[in-house]
Amino acid sequence: MINLVSRADELLESKAVQVVIGYEAGSTGKARPAFITDPSKTGSLIFDDRCVQNLAVYLTKKEVRYFGKAAIVATLPIMRSIMMLISEQQVFAENIVVLGVSAEGKYIDIAGIEVMQQYIATCDLGNPAKDQETLAMLNKMSTQQKFDFWQKELSKCIKCYACRQACPMCYCTRCAVECNQPQWIPVQSNLHGNTDWHILRAMHLAGRCISCGECGRACPVNIPCHLLTMHMADQVHNYFNVYAGTTDKMSSVMSTFEPNDKESFIQ
Ligand code: SF4
Ligand code: SF4
Ligand code: SF4
Repeated sequence: MINLVSRADELLESKAVQVVIGYEAGSTGKARPAFITDPSKTGSLIFDDRCVQNLAVYLTKKEVRYFGKAAIVATLPIMRSIMMLISEQQVFAENIVVLGVSAEGKYIDIAGIEVMQQYIATCDLGNPAKDQETLAMLNKMSTQQKFDFWQKELSKCIKCYACRQACPMCYCTRCAVECNQPQWIPVQSNLHGNTDWHILRAMHLAGRCISCGECGRACPVNIPCHLLTMHMADQVHNYFNVYAGTTDKMSSVMSTFEPNDKESFIQ
C-alpha cells in the first residue's frame, strides 16, 4: 500500500488534514485502528485481510474530531457509512478526505463525494455472500422456528452494548436503552429485555444499516446480531428499492412516505 502511505504522508505534511485514521498491526498480530498525526509515522499504516473494522465509527467521536480535519482509509462499507453520516449531518464532507481501498485491496483516488458516489454505484451493495446464505436459511424457517432461533441466541446477550459502540450509525449521545424516564427497555440482561433491545436496534437501523457486519464481529458472545439489521436492509431494498449509503442525500426510509410505496407489509 505504498500509495496509501505516500498519500497519508503528503496530506499530513501539507497540513491538509490533521489526522489519518487507518489500520496498523497490533501487538497480538491483529490489525487495530491507527490515528496518525505525525507524517513520520505513516509507515506504520497497513492494509490487508485483517483490516475489516469499520473505521467510520470514529468520525463522530469527540476525541477524534478534536484533531481537526481527518483522512480515513475507506473500503466500500466505510464509504457507505460516510455517505450516511453526511446525509444525517453528523459529519461534513469538507472535513473528510477519503483514502479509498477497492475490494481487491488497491488504493483508489477518491477526489470528492461525487467520485465516491460514482464508485459506490459500481459495487454490489447486497449483504455479504456468507450472511446472505444464513439469512436465506433463516427465511426458510417457520415463524416459530425463527423465534426459537433468536430466543436461543438472544438469551446469551449480556447487554454490554459492544454491538452498538462498534456501529457507525449508533452515534446517539444518549441511546434509547439508557433512558429511564420513561424506561423503554429493562436495564438488566434477561430474555425479555434482550429481545426488546435487539428489536429496537433493528428498527433504528432500518434503512441505515450498510451491512458492514461490525456489530456481529464486536459481540463477545458471538450473537449474530448483524443478521437482524442486515435482514432489515434486505427488507428495505425489497420494499423501497433503496440501499443505505449510496448518496450524501439519503432520505430517512422510516420517516419518508411516497404515494407509490408498496404497502403489502400492512396486513
Ligand atoms: S452491520 Fe451492524 S455495525 Fe454495520 S451498519 Fe449494520 S448495524 Fe451497524
Ligand atoms: S440503538 Fe438506536 S438509540 Fe441506541 S445508539 Fe443505536 S440508533 Fe441510537
Ligand atoms: S455485543 Fe453481544 S452481548 Fe453485547 S449487547 Fe450486543 S448482542 Fe448483547
